[in-house]
Amino acid sequence: MTASVPATAAPAAEPVLRRPSLVGRTRAGLLEALAEIGVPEKERRMRVGQLWNWIYHYGVREFDAMTTIGKGLRGQLAERFSLDLPTVTAEQVSTDGTRKWLMRMPSTGPHDRGAEIECVYIPEVDRGTLCVSSQVGCTLTCTFCHTGTQRLVRNLKTEEIVAQVMVARDRLGDFPNRKAPDGAFVPNDGGRFVSNIVFMGMGEPLYNFDGVRDAIGVITDDQGLSLGRRRITVSTSGVVPQIGPLGEEMGTMLAISLHAVRDDLRNELVPLNKKYPIKDLLDACRNYPGLSNAKRITFEYVMLKGVNDSDAEARELVRLLKGIPAKINLIPFNPWPGTKYECSDWDRIERFSEIVFRAGYASPVRTPRGRDILAACGQLKSETEKLSARARLMLDEAQAAAPAVAAE
Ligand code: SAH
Ligand code: SF4
Repeated sequence: MTASVPATAAPAAEPVLRRPSLVGRTRAGLLEALAEIGVPEKERRMRVGQLWNWIYHYGVREFDAMTTIGKGLRGQLAERFSLDLPTVTAEQVSTDGTRKWLMRMPSTGPHDRGAEIECVYIPEVDRGTLCVSSQVGCTLTCTFCHTGTQRLVRNLKTEEIVAQVMVARDRLGDFPNRKAPDGAFVPNDGGRFVSNIVFMGMGEPLYNFDGVRDAIGVITDDQGLSLGRRRITVSTSGVVPQIGPLGEEMGTMLAISLHAVRDDLRNELVPLNKKYPIKDLLDACRNYPGLSNAKRITFEYVMLKGVNDSDAEARELVRLLKGIPAKINLIPFNPWPGTKYECSDWDRIERFSEIVFRAGYASPVRTPRGRDILAACGQLKSETEKLSARARLMLDEAQAAAPAVAAE
């Protein structure tokens, strides 16, 4: 049910303002909400614990379902707040099970229609990965990235990041005692629900450091959504000064969008490289807190035809990463209207990946998923051909070898 103020409160052309939602808030945010409605200070901490459990463990959508909280307080909460999730304005399901949700965030004021973002869920046998956004648009202008052509609208708030996970859990029917909503897809084929999260949607997560850090705090809280920090990967285009703090304050896995092995080319593809060149970036990687063979950095490398895909570049990539516990993810370029780049030919990708593989790295080529629904996260959608049998075999071998492969 959508709680809304009377229509007369907003001019006709404006969206209806909703009561602020408590879903996605940190414990501190819930404390504030309780203070706002006059809950006595000594009671607040206990109430936060109750709200937390109902919101994040049970995923309830009405205050009335919170049976451990007295009727009076439930009423007070409902008068001032809601438990709304962002509105899912479109949901598309791929034949391979990939799901894409278009979500409209609640309006933040009378002139804000509410940001719209996409979020993609990729089910696999051993995991279910959710690709989330950290910003609406991006300030960086990587030349091969569609988001890079869009201006930054704003950082997503902590609750808006958490809400992406909540929507996914809700749509997948993954809350205890809660019936899945109509049309929900409940994995019953041995596939997983949301077990992994990657910050590879829109935006540069390290430019929204506090929002992402606090969201990860909520997502990993063991009394709620309780995802392990090692199941969360933050991908950055290389905001060097924030890489150390990311490890210290968030403790997640790190992915670096490398894409080139020379500064002149990387300056062009990832203009942030002019500020933080490859050497500084790799130094920050070497110092990433907690780095070990069990906690490797993923280096993403988008395959651009005739631009960065030669044998010499594959060998240089291996040389550059020497001594860093690493995985290399080769991403088939996902073309978009107006781009000047093309995806490397398949045999080129195979050859590149073979060089990387022979040097001892697991180098899975990210299999294109959700092609039929144009799954949003730039790198997930792809028009490339299927992996050949040979590439498949190599990929399987590489993945099987992964834990034992020494990157030194
Ligand atoms: N801003 C962060 C995270 C979001 S982008 C970053 O740059 O790392 C997530 C990944 O998708 C990055 O590795 C990015 O380089 C890649 N990517 C962006 N556009 C792409 C495209 N058109 N095809 C393939 N990968 C793309
Ligand atoms: Fe922004 Fe990442 Fe796209 Fe670069 S690749 S423009 S940092 S979203």
